[in-house]
Amino acid sequence: MIPAREALERLQDGNRRFVAELRSRDALASRERRNEVATGQEPFAIVLGCSDSRVPAEIVFDRGLGDLFVIRVAGNIVAPSQVGSVEFAADRFATRLVVVLGHSQCGVILATLEELRRPTENHSRNIASIVDRVSPSIEPLLHTELARDHDALVHAAVRANVVASVNQLSHGSEILEHLIQTEGLVVVGAEYSLETGVVDFFHGVPLVEAGRR
Ligand SMILES: [Zn+2]
Repeated sequence: MIPAREALERLQDGNRRFVAELRSRDALASRERRNEVATGQEPFAIVLGCSDSRVPAEIVFDRGLGDLFVIRVAGNIVAPSQVGSVEFAADRFATRLVVVLGHSQCGVILATLEELRRPTENHSRNIASIVDRVSPSIEPLLHTELARDHDALVHAAVRANVVASVNQLSHGSEILEHLIQTEGLVVVGAEYSLETGVVDFFHGVPLVEAGRR
């Protein structure tokens, strides 16, 4: 079992390699590695990320087969099947770190902001179910100073949506609550920058204990 803190460091190191173009992806997806994991997996982190084609978790964290249990859904929203997927991995594989990974310029966030400003009726019910999950956390931002600055608003909205998903995972499941309280499960929020490739872990990161680094 890999503690949350160590798992987080692995992701941070991997993202640094990705940004520096020092990728080890070929080795991490080799035939040897495939054989190693064919009979079982021990993913060290669970990532709930957006389906956006520009944010594949394994690539931006420079990880390979068997490393990450990844759930991708437009807008990195939390609906029952996402909670169930996180429960499944945390319970079955003793994975101790969950990362909600949003990203700059998220299309779902842009669409939701548009919808909040100019509601339309012609959405499919299924797309509406995504927008409806995102709206409550970003609607209040429209009543602040941010509403006058489009870029700042989008940036804040992306982060508010990530925090909302972190909170839903942390408080919306008895299994996950129990693992958080007794087994060291940690749920953090992060934002990937399409422009720089950097992942900023900005929410819920546990402080390093004094004397350790
Ligand atoms: Zn997105």
